[in-house]
Amino acid sequence: MTEENKKRLEALNQKLINFVEHPWILKQSPFHIVGDIYFVGNSYVSCFLLDTEKGLILIDAAFKETCYLLFDNIRALGYNPEKIKYLLLSHGHFDHCGAAKLVQEYSGCEIYLGKRDHFFFTERPDLILFEDRVPRFEINNFYDYDGVMDFGNIKIRPILTPGHTPGTTTFLIETIHNGEKVTCAMHGGIGINGLTRDELESNGLPLSLQQDFLNSLEYLKTLKVDVVLASHSHQYNMIERSTKDDGTGKAFFDNENGWQKMLDQFMELMKKIISEN
Ligand SMILES: [Zn+2]
Repeated sequence: MTEENKKRLEALNQKLINFVEHPWILKQSPFHIVGDIYFVGNSYVSCFLLDTEKGLILIDAAFKETCYLLFDNIRALGYNPEKIKYLLLSHGHFDHCGAAKLVQEYSGCEIYLGKRDHFFFTERPDLILFEDRVPRFEINNFYDYDGVMDFGNIKIRPILTPGHTPGTTTFLIETIHNGEKVTCAMHGGIGINGLTRDELESNGLPLSLQQDFLNSLEYLKTLKVDVVLASHSHQYNMIERSTKDDGTGKAFFDNENGWQKMLDQFMELMKKIISEN
């Protein structure tokens, strides 16, 4: 591994260790986005609460250490975290599913994961610090990428978008906002960390994930998206937008191809990494 990559990885690990040892520094107030969708995550990882006719859905659970912040946020919005019926995981990394066990134990929710990330929990627990940062939980379902999950007022189409991990799943979410259908999209893992040749080889993952990443973004670019939901709160200025919103959700609507621009930006970063292989 190159010195530069080593340093970058060490810095990221240091940052994550700092977060889990001092979880309160990630405290972030929850906010309404559009329709029946709310932000309940922290200042590093996004979690979304969806109030559907078929029960509460949580998308991603963040770190196990920040679970109390997640529950506080859900309660602050007037919901009961015991009532979470489904937890949809974007991918198997510990910053997104570390709290899955706690959420499941507390609510009895069913958990969904992308099938191609299941190997983290069986063959490669070392890659997600399984049992340490990710207490064991029951995976009840794998996503059916040919179908739409119908929750009445909310419909979710899971899309397999490998790259960041082999089973990263992107969600296309339809909700009703002011009487009109609105399409929101959350890329399940747009970060290119872990995708250099160095990192893939040292983790024993296929180099083809680089091209998979580009292909999946190329496809996502063809989708019409009204509201971008970022899987990390700092991406797409989610938090900043919330401070500018006047309660109508206006600040979250994208009128300038923001989805496409965001995908383009990460495609460029990926192409740069490939050229340096
Ligand atoms: Zn990740």
